[in-house]
Amino acid sequence: MVEAMEDKSSSSGQQAECSKAAGEVRPTVDRRRCEAKATCVSVCPYDVFEVRRIAPQDYAELSLLAKLKVRVHGMKTAYTPRADACHGCGYCVSACPEGAIALRRLVHGAK
Ligand code: SF4
Repeated sequence: MVEAMEDKSSSSGQQAECSKAAGEVRPTVDRRRCEAKATCVSVCPYDVFEVRRIAPQDYAELSLLAKLKVRVHGMKTAYTPRADACHGCGYCVSACPEGAIALRRLVHGAK
């Protein structure tokens, strides 16, 4: 289970340190906003992201407007295949030009 967590980056562009242990937080991608620019892939020091063709189920869950947006961007979106490696530095949150990434704190022991 996950719960929302605030971005720790400051408005001056300073970044929080990657001081969390891997597995405490994980990034989530809002596919309605993602434009597959792969900035997250470039900035993540732990290789958490990849940009690839959107999965049929994820595409089906989008609104008509969001589907059109994904089509314009080549049917691609960001995924987090190595989310367990996230250290919570927030670089991806700050770098995404679409504001499509949020960090969620993992709640251990929750049902
Ligand atoms: S917060 Fe973002 S950039 Fe930092 S380790 Fe996690 S996924 Fe990578």
